[in-house]
Amino acid sequence: MSLYDLNEMTWEEVREALATVKLAIIPIGAHEQHGPHMVESVDSVLATEMAKRLSEKLYPYVMKTPTVNFGVSEHHIHFPGTISLKPTTLIAILKDMVVSLKQHGITNFLFLNAHGGNQSTLGVACTSLSKELEVAIYYAKTTASAKKAISAGISSTLFGHSCEREVSEAMYLAPHLIRMDRLTKGEVNSGEKWELLRPGKAIQGFYHYEEMTRNGCIGDGTKASFELGEMIVEEALVNLADDLCVLLEIETVIL
Ligand SMILES: [Zn+2]
Repeated sequence: MSLYDLNEMTWEEVREALATVKLAIIPIGAHEQHGPHMVESVDSVLATEMAKRLSEKLYPYVMKTPTVNFGVSEHHIHFPGTISLKPTTLIAILKDMVVSLKQHGITNFLFLNAHGGNQSTLGVACTSLSKELEVAIYYAKTTASAKKAISAGISSTLFGHSCEREVSEAMYLAPHLIRMDRLTKGEVNSGEKWELLRPGKAIQGFYHYEEMTRNGCIGDGTKASFELGEMIVEEALVNLADDLCVLLEIETVIL
């Protein structure tokens, strides 16, 4: 399989690729705690790996850019090692990337994001930059569309961070991120205010992660498996590739 990956190309190779490239995939991660059993670069590495695979599926129409290795992680900041961008900083970085790439002739962009805490900022970036820069910007959470695999393979009611879903994805995409001998479930605090503010509740608001979980993860990492990771990742990749084909009006053989 081939892909266009800006990290691995000379300017002459890029110039040649631009003859067919219609869209840049910008992987976006985070640098934040992921409980006792995964390292802090998880979101950045998983975003990178998803972008590589999606770029292979849509070769030669898309080009993967370098990854934005930081995200909006203020809710994790009390755990050692977390580095957070302000939402305005993330938008400023993305704006500069889009402005640069537009000068090379790319006018369609996908922000491929692996960190839930970035989603609202990316919605703002998409709305404001599309108009300001006169480009088409789309954004997606890497594996959120894999609804069949997620509902079949996950029984925890509270999951979404260093849980069986994310550990499974890492088992499939980047197992070196996992401390297999430390796999555990979330030490979740019940009866606290954070429960009122979760997605789907009447009111949303900010809370620190340690209010929700003492060890920094939720769900149950011990239930993770390579097979579940493969199911989730592959279902999501097909969904992303199919929809991009429609948006870009391209026909390609999705493998
Ligand atoms: Zn994560």
